[in-house]
Amino acid sequence: MSAIVYEPVIGLEVHAQLKTESKMFCNCGTKFGEPPNTQVCPVCLGLPGSLPVPNQLAFELALKTALALHCELAGFTKFDRKNYYYPDLPKNYQISQYDLPFSKQGHLDITVDGVSKRIGITRVHLEEDAGKLVHFEGSSGVDLNRAGTPLMEIVSEPDLRSAAEARAYMEALAHILEFIGVCDCNMQEGSLRCDANVSIRPAGQKTLNTRREIKNMNSFRFVEQAIVAEIAAQQAIYAAGGAVQQETRLFNGETGEIRTMRTKEEAQDYRYFPEPDLPPITITAETLARIQAQLEELPAARRQRYSEQYKLSAYDAQVLTDDKAMGDFFEAVIKQGVSPKAAANWIASDLQGILKERNLRIDTCGLTPAAVVELIELVEKKKQLNRNAAKELVFPKMLETKKSALEIAKAENLLIVADAGATEQVVDTVLAKFPKLVADYVAGKDAVINAIFGKCMAEFKGKGDPAVIRPLLEKKLKGLREQK
Ligand SMILES: [Zn+2]
Repeated sequence: MSAIVYEPVIGLEVHAQLKTESKMFCNCGTKFGEPPNTQVCPVCLGLPGSLPVPNQLAFELALKTALALHCELAGFTKFDRKNYYYPDLPKNYQISQYDLPFSKQGHLDITVDGVSKRIGITRVHLEEDAGKLVHFEGSSGVDLNRAGTPLMEIVSEPDLRSAAEARAYMEALAHILEFIGVCDCNMQEGSLRCDANVSIRPAGQKTLNTRREIKNMNSFRFVEQAIVAEIAAQQAIYAAGGAVQQETRLFNGETGEIRTMRTKEEAQDYRYFPEPDLPPITITAETLARIQAQLEELPAARRQRYSEQYKLSAYDAQVLTDDKAMGDFFEAVIKQGVSPKAAANWIASDLQGILKERNLRIDTCGLTPAAVVELIELVEKKKQLNRNAAKELVFPKMLETKKSALEIAKAENLLIVADAGATEQVVDTVLAKFPKLVADYVAGKDAVINAIFGKCMAEFKGKGDPAVIRPLLEKKLKGLREQK
């Protein structure tokens, strides 16, 4: 009997903390890492008589996300209470959205092993986060700083068919959320978390088998590992003739194990009902138009435009659109007259490399596009600075001192000796200094020219232009060989 081939069916529910200064329904701050219970007030502590007021910015950031994910927006939406008891939930209910979320039916494109696939988004809705339990030896504490933090829940259709696709989806989603500035996606701080619904079925079967849910994964790697482990666990159950029971499970990133958290019998009935303290919201055409206008060109569209409009290589277009700030900087540089190809070469490879080395970001490193334009022009247009010297010496100094490229090149005595006579003099000096190398070349050892060229560049102390020196040196050496 041949083994049954199973097809995994996976849907993800991603929780993303919105990038706002204050909480969803009160004015408390949302800064991570503050001393416990210092960002709380009667509203987020759930004290009797306190009333929630929705955070306008949180609502707009959520709308922006829904637009970026190509969702249909509802004209009318409301908040609901999701009732349950847990020590980190002081009100005994969470304000969420149930039957009338503000958006539905979007999609997100992912690429795995070069193959693109469209993943459906069921809905994006708004809710508030709970607090956090902290466990000590022999006791536990509750920190309510996070209670009431604005949270988006982004639910995918069960369109994912492997752990790798699930990871790619999560990464693509994080990329967009960060790109449009709605979430910092700091997974270590819990800004982005994911639950996965996983079932498997014999390949070709149309109906779905029972699924199990894995809760609260906070890294891309964990999402992938947990799903791989869950698929294997379900295969083992079916192989042994068993049936998968609906349950909620927890993945332990350190041990790689998944364990049962609760089974179907313990499933909660949340008794959803409309939140009586918050009026329903009508999303007007004006609001929509305003949010639409704020929505950035998305990475995929930008990438395509860069290859078509600027004729950039796939690699350059990718690097320049991965990070929004990088692309914005690139466009500012070409606006000032640098050719797209030259700007891409400098920004996507040279500058990016140095910034990475120093753990800096283009938008916060203190360099303006104009300063980089000056550097590029000194090399490409004015030919006053050698590319290597610009990259190795001038650019790092620009980062450190914030002085202009020209100032640094002058102070460091790096400006190229443009005078042909002066160049020739230096080459002659080198030839006189290293008679043995010259004799070797004349005797037929062609490769020695590289060593002599190196000596010339050293003699120029970074100010030499290889494009001038190399041909001159070749001409002189060939002349010497012919004279022999
Ligand atoms: Zn509060």
